[in-house]
Amino acid sequence: SEHDFDDTGGFHFDDLAPATPGRAAAPARGETADEVLRRVFGYDSFRGDQAAIVEQVIGGGDALVLMPTGGGKSLCYQVPSLVRPGVGVVVSPLIALMQDQVDALSALGVRAGFLNSTQSPDQRRTVEAQFVTGELDLLYLAPERLRLESTLRLLDRGTVALFAIDEAHCVSQWGHDFRPDYLALSLLHERWPDVPRIALTATATAKTAAEIVERLDLGEAKQFVASFDRPNIQYRIEGKNRPDRQLLEFIRTEHPGDAGIVYCLSRNSVEKTAAMLNENGVRAVPYHAGLDNRVRAENQARFLREDGLVVVATIAFGMGIDKPDVRFVAHLDLPKSVEGYYQETGRAGRDGLPSTAWMVYGLADVVQQRKMIDSSEGDAAHRRQLQLHLDAMLALCETVNCRRAQLLNYFGQQPTGQGCGNCDVCLNPPETWDGTVPAQKLLSTVLRLKRERGQAFGAGHLVDILLGKTNPKITQHRHNELTVFGIGTDLRDTEWRGVVRQLLAGGFLAVQGEYGVLALTDAGNEVLFEGRKVALRREPERPTRPARAPKAAKAAADLPAADVPLFERLRAWRAATAKEQGVPA
Ligand code: ADP
Ligand code: MG
Ligand code: ZN
Repeated sequence: SEHDFDDTGGFHFDDLAPATPGRAAAPARGETADEVLRRVFGYDSFRGDQAAIVEQVIGGGDALVLMPTGGGKSLCYQVPSLVRPGVGVVVSPLIALMQDQVDALSALGVRAGFLNSTQSPDQRRTVEAQFVTGELDLLYLAPERLRLESTLRLLDRGTVALFAIDEAHCVSQWGHDFRPDYLALSLLHERWPDVPRIALTATATAKTAAEIVERLDLGEAKQFVASFDRPNIQYRIEGKNRPDRQLLEFIRTEHPGDAGIVYCLSRNSVEKTAAMLNENGVRAVPYHAGLDNRVRAENQARFLREDGLVVVATIAFGMGIDKPDVRFVAHLDLPKSVEGYYQETGRAGRDGLPSTAWMVYGLADVVQQRKMIDSSEGDAAHRRQLQLHLDAMLALCETVNCRRAQLLNYFGQQPTGQGCGNCDVCLNPPETWDGTVPAQKLLSTVLRLKRERGQAFGAGHLVDILLGKTNPKITQHRHNELTVFGIGTDLRDTEWRGVVRQLLAGGFLAVQGEYGVLALTDAGNEVLFEGRKVALRREPERPTRPARAPKAAKAAADLPAADVPLFERLRAWRAATAKEQGVPA
């Protein structure tokens, strides 16, 4: 259904193989961090802040590490765990990946184990015994384990070298990955005040960082903030008209045979998009929390193992996925926040090679997301928070400046120089135009309907009024008698939608209520009555497409009805509902 969203992620699946107890010889104690880095991990040198972070933790101090995905956070706690006496205890929400992490470490001769709900009591007892006798270097723990008194007693019986809190943004209640179990992690400091703690995350807004510091009691921690720029990722955001066609064309022309991730909002569209890609010769597998555990684990494993496979997924997919050669991340629906967008796109190009973060978005996304916010559980403050997240995301979509600069600014970082040269805005600067008059036409239509008729409508109908279209809904409401009827024929339908989208992104209009009707805001009133100007970006002409093979052309023409843009479907649905209930839609 439309509401079948994976909002909370789906990492806790219970289909894992039993633990592999560490088997190789213990790394020699008394080694320096540099020696461990070379001998155990086989790297020549630390990257970025790694050396300083490792030194801080080895010295017994706390650290808060804000480093983008792929930056190398794991070594920041793995190396100190091997240098300090005792076992490094790593708290991670990524239960599904613990086995892989432990296997990878075992292959390097590091003795690692994990404790989570997927194990049998026997397997757990084995790992617990290894911890107590000091036969482990690293112990991965699911956060909910720390709610058990038995786990706390276990930790007392061994020696803890450090606590690492991975994906620390999960402690943030207003963030996009909140895990209630993370709130309990403040007890680590109370119970073991002398054990150093290192909290790590790829989410970097000052707000989230402050929340992590507060909730985990990390006021004394040294903060390490890496640059969040990912220069090898090209950021592009395009208008959504036929998302399936657009995606197919993007993959065929720019990334044929490449591994990539396609994000969709609903499970239903994940399934449909994966099927569409396969029918058109792009090998793709679906991934969402509604799939059978075994299928989901298998699809993830195939994506990691095989070359050039595309995974079509909800946001349930990806946290902690370390596949270096993901060449593109595509979004067919608008992410809920800039943090989410950054994390998801950050899964591209971890090997440093050129990669693309490509997204299509349209008016329907805005309407859809506002409705989701309105119907979301939680109090008004929570909804306001979601609204702010969405507003920031829209601002990124509609910016007429460098996308990278906008992203870095969002994370409180200064971009270098004028424009990055590797985003759509820098590569192909949008023309802007004075959209004050069209904005006034649209806003005044909203105002008149409200004042003269006590009505409010969605964007589609407003545009029909401006274009002077005669259709049943127009005649039914006698909207052809309005003075604004037909005053907007100077712009095309798509241009009007662009105007509406940008007015929404700019806060001149708001979407309201169950039907997603448009309403005037204070800023909108300023445009109507106080001479405030509105600069708009020019909607591109219908993009010229390279000649397509006949088969592809046919496939695209045969797209199923579900691929009619969501906006159209919403409109049809609204019209139908309105007819049933006698409400203006
Ligand atoms: P993060 O957790 O920050 O997303 P990871 O710890 O998974 O990143 O590291 C990402 C990749 O970078 C891994 O493949 C890792 O082996 C590699 N890496 C990390 N540090 C170094 C280093 N100092 N030298 C070379 N490769 C490194
Ligand atoms: Mg990591
Ligand atoms: Zn740029």
